[in-house]
Amino acid sequence: MTDAEQMIHHDRLSADLAQQLASIAALLAATGNAVSEASTDMRQARIDAMAQQVNTRDQLARFNLRRRKVEAALTRFEAGAYGLCCECRAEISGERLDHDAAEVFCEECADEREAP
Ligand SMILES: [Zn+2]
Repeated sequence: MTDAEQMIHHDRLSADLAQQLASIAALLAATGNAVSEASTDMRQARIDAMAQQVNTRDQLARFNLRRRKVEAALTRFEAGAYGLCCECRAEISGERLDHDAAEVFCEECADEREAP
């Protein structure tokens, strides 16, 4: 991988991280408003609130999972190990990194993990 390619991936990861953090902040801010907008029917309001909570928790979990993956990739950058498979240390193909700059495994190791 060239330095220029590394820079592109690094920029992409930084932007991705900022986006996840913004999404998490927006979600947490919205959670506070959700209750006051509940309907006057108390039973329905409780059901709505519970559904909302589950939904918010799922979304938060997804954003946090992605955030951790991106942070781990940025950490590998600092360690000079970016673009190397975390399993076998082989270089991850540019195609895979273009698809997801936070990719952790080379194609071979990813296939092995997906195999039953
Ligand atoms: Zn590998």
